[in-house]
Amino acid sequence: MKRFDYVRAEAPEQAATAASPKDASFIGGGTNLLDLMKFEIETPTKLVDITRLELEQIETTADGGLRIGTLVTNSDLAAHPEVIANYPVLSRAILAGATGQLRNKATTGGNFLQRTRCYYFYQTDSPCNKREPGSGCPAINGEHRTLAVLGTSDACIAQHPSDMAVAMRLLDAVIETVKADGSTRSIPVKDFYCLPKDTPHIENVLESGELITHVVLPSPIKGMHTYDKVRDRASYAFALVSCASVIESDDTGNLATVRLAFGGIGVMPWRNEDVEALLTGTAGDDATIAQAADLLLKEAKGHGQNDFKIPLTRRLLKQVIQRALAGEGA
Ligand SMILES: Cc1cc2nc3c(=O)[nH]c(=O)nc-3n(C[C@H](O)[C@H](O)[C@H](O)COP(=O)(O)OP(=O)(O)OC[C@H]3O[C@@H](n4cnc5c(N)ncnc54)[C@H](O)[C@@H]3O)c2cc1C
Ligand code: SF4
Repeated sequence: MKRFDYVRAEAPEQAATAASPKDASFIGGGTNLLDLMKFEIETPTKLVDITRLELEQIETTADGGLRIGTLVTNSDLAAHPEVIANYPVLSRAILAGATGQLRNKATTGGNFLQRTRCYYFYQTDSPCNKREPGSGCPAINGEHRTLAVLGTSDACIAQHPSDMAVAMRLLDAVIETVKADGSTRSIPVKDFYCLPKDTPHIENVLESGELITHVVLPSPIKGMHTYDKVRDRASYAFALVSCASVIESDDTGNLATVRLAFGGIGVMPWRNEDVEALLTGTAGDDATIAQAADLLLKEAKGHGQNDFKIPLTRRLLKQVIQRALAGEGA
């Protein structure tokens, strides 16, 4: 590990100013960043410790939503009574990720910003456009079984690893930040991540030193909330394909509310509102589900080893819809 300076921030604005040089990093739970530093994938010269900031609260908003401080741990967020009662998809998604020990340390803000699990990204003796812009992408013709099929480019096919962020995308969460100049802004999760295109090292719209302070959830959505995660092991494994869903049917048995977001298949949490619109108001019959899957996966591109994710996603979508119509939870 390379030497670095350590600063403990006392206020959000001070943290943002302290982290404004390009080679500075915030440290939250440290469960991803410290590994990246030990492997010398990230080599910040300054660490700004944000763990003493008063950003550990979960408050109810005026419109009945929730405002979550960035330092709320994944364990506390998943176990919060309001989250369990009104946003169970979020609780389930978080609990499907990592392990109890990791969730006890991992923070809400840090979870959004965890880096990909592409093997080559962690292997510093191999090229990687995300780690070293312009060096190449060995994954495309190499090991890529776990990598993305949607949103990829010729420069990078890395998947987004977070389970929590998939549920946040589904729920239309909004990220609040403070910048180094003290100004604040609100960024919907749908606009937060960047496609890799030819700059895969730019993963989100945050500026240098911009600190996530809160995440706001709009008022709850009625319906059956589920999070399905298909993975190689029953625990301690990232998603091959996951699906966060909120589905409700009307008195006639048709689909009245359909929200779907997917993990494991995209370069970012993947949601396609056109797919939801196609299913809404229908009986969720096989032909309609097949049409919805065609639309969801129209641009999907496998590279050989990860081709299986495309039919697997189709089957997961069908299972999620049919199970909800049958009134069965996950
Ligand atoms: C073995 C293992 C298995 C895992 N399995 C899963 C899994 O199945 N599913 C899953 O979703 N995750 C999984 N994870 C990842 C884990 O969820 C993340 O490591 C964790 O959520 C990161 O949060 P943190 O607070 O520790 O972030 P840190 O490591 O502290 O920081 C991560 C990044 O976020 C930045 N950052 C942190 N806070 C802020 C802020 N407030 N504002 C701006 N930038 C900030 C840091 O500078 C850093 O770049 C796993 C991790 C491990 C080690
Ligand atoms: S897929 Fe992305 S992260 Fe993986 S080697 Fe290629 S450029 Fe690097």
